[in-house]
Amino acid sequence: MDIKTERIDPDQTGTPCRFCGTVLEHSLIDLGRQPLANSYLRDRPADLAAEQRYPLHVKVCANCFLAQVETAIPADAIFSDYAYFSSYSASWVAHAERYAQAMIDRFGIGQASLVVEVASNDGYLLKHFRDRSVPVRGVEPATNVAAVAERAGIPTQVAFFNRETGRRLAAAGHRADLMAANNVLAHVPDIRDFAAGFPEVLKPEGVATFEFPHLLRLIDGIQFDTIYHEHYSYLSLMVVERVFGDVGLRVFDVEELPTHGGSLRVFACHAQASHAETARLAAVRTMEADAGFHRIETYLDFTPKAERVRAGFRAFLARCRADGKTVAGYGAAAKGNTFLNYCGATACDLVCVVDRNPEKQDRRLPGTHIPVRDPAVLTEIKPDYVLILPWNIADEIVSSMGHVRDWGGRFVVAVPEIREL
Ligand SMILES: [Zn+2]
Repeated sequence: MDIKTERIDPDQTGTPCRFCGTVLEHSLIDLGRQPLANSYLRDRPADLAAEQRYPLHVKVCANCFLAQVETAIPADAIFSDYAYFSSYSASWVAHAERYAQAMIDRFGIGQASLVVEVASNDGYLLKHFRDRSVPVRGVEPATNVAAVAERAGIPTQVAFFNRETGRRLAAAGHRADLMAANNVLAHVPDIRDFAAGFPEVLKPEGVATFEFPHLLRLIDGIQFDTIYHEHYSYLSLMVVERVFGDVGLRVFDVEELPTHGGSLRVFACHAQASHAETARLAAVRTMEADAGFHRIETYLDFTPKAERVRAGFRAFLARCRADGKTVAGYGAAAKGNTFLNYCGATACDLVCVVDRNPEKQDRRLPGTHIPVRDPAVLTEIKPDYVLILPWNIADEIVSSMGHVRDWGGRFVVAVPEIREL
């Protein structure tokens, strides 16, 4: 298919596609005006009153099919106070260790290699390579987070990654055998400039891997709650191959992962490198073609499905109110905030949301202002229902919170439909 790549015309009306410049006319879903999903509020009237909201509308480009938030919030407004440290999550640390071993085995990464990670956070992934005597280098935009990595012995450059950063790394002699970019491709406003940094740094036969939530799973699972301002793009393999092709990268393999409700790990190399295409790459291409990802009509069915999820949740809350049942939430995660705000939930609907992260406790959720509490309060409140907001780890939560059943409490999830566990 012929893809136009003209640059933005300042005289045209409407928002241009961030990749190809075509005016965006088609809606995947409009979630209304929402606060930043990770901006937990101090429980003070002035802080609650000063909260900002921004439009959260995902559109799909009819030319290149990139699904994208229409109004981008400047990245520095989001990342300057970025409090998330990867090492806090035990399951992510295990995921990182498995990744490191798999790449070492498959691509023969060793003491003479260099592994570069983009958005390297506190070094949670690179340390698994360093522990196996592989030289590493991180690139991380948040100064405070990069400092934690440096203290742990992971050399880290403070920068947003793009073509210019890639050139600087290469000029300083940092050419990579392996580059990792996990859960960052969807979070960058200028996806082309970001992707263009990789060919600058990769050695001729070097490999870059990218993990991102798969748009196919978002659409199939009606996962509109995974949409938030920090997440600029919603990616298919088809779109990623186009963006990469435009900057001289070629995808040669893809792996399906269960993380974040269904992700892809894409393997890319220089267009001229010798890595052969795998059968599973062909399989994912076929899945997307069968789902109709090359037709704009496919994306327009999503909004009515999300509206049905919202109606189902509202009906559940109305039944609880009528029957005098109490509902508490579990997991003050970004996806829960998008969901509760879209559904118009308030502190009258949910007495609180509990979370194990002490940074979030005794704050208020953005938008809904529902209080966040320590999970221990559930034994005092004894809610009739515990709504699990991070449905992707519902099994883990149910097994660790079994005592909720002691007072007859029941677990529910609301996506893709209200369902008792
Ligand atoms: Zn486009």
